[in-house]
Amino acid sequence: MRLVVATRNPHKLEELGEILEGYELVPLPDHVDLPPEDGDSFAANALIKAHAAAAATGWAAIGDDSGIAARALGGRPGVYSARYAGPEATDEQNLSLLIEELTPHSDRHVAYVCVLAHVTADGAELLAEGRCEGELTLEPRGTGGFGYDPAFVPRDTGPEDDRTMAELAPAEKHAISHRGRAARALASALRNRR
Ligand code: IMP
Repeated sequence: MRLVVATRNPHKLEELGEILEGYELVPLPDHVDLPPEDGDSFAANALIKAHAAAAATGWAAIGDDSGIAARALGGRPGVYSARYAGPEATDEQNLSLLIEELTPHSDRHVAYVCVLAHVTADGAELLAEGRCEGELTLEPRGTGGFGYDPAFVPRDTGPEDDRTMAELAPAEKHAISHRGRAARALASALRNRR
């Protein structure tokens, strides 16, 4: 079954393809413009993308949205993760701002969250969420990954391991990532729906 993925990021397409077996995943056609991600939740933004892609192509579609949420900051930056330090901010600037804001707090808990929305050609919705819990270190380390990875120490690697996401091998990150978990949850929900 063909599924259009509402992203122009080839890495996301590849990662989803490894988990959603039995589907032919196709990238968003060039002529389709995605509306602005102006929802107030990850689910709202994922649905905006999936509905736009399904309506424009006539195929079932997947949209995604993700970000990082700090408990001590009431869940910020959340849906604003990509533009936390301003509309044109770099990954480094966003991360510096989050470190600055968390420095006075003893609670450094953060979670990566990813929501995937599946929308059929006739508009039926299915949502799946994946989370990866961790602590923010105030001293970024490592060169892998992107975004907030150099300061994100995941819990899944265990209390003895203080490597950041940017110090893990890509396969180690994929095994515990919010995106991988959301994709596995979506695959299972789609199987159960058949
Ligand atoms: P989007 O879902 O591609 O729009 O990503 C939103 C933003 O969340 C990214 O620009 C990053 O700042 C952050 N983010 C999402 N997933 C990750 C991740 O796996 N590592 C680091 N940062 C992430």
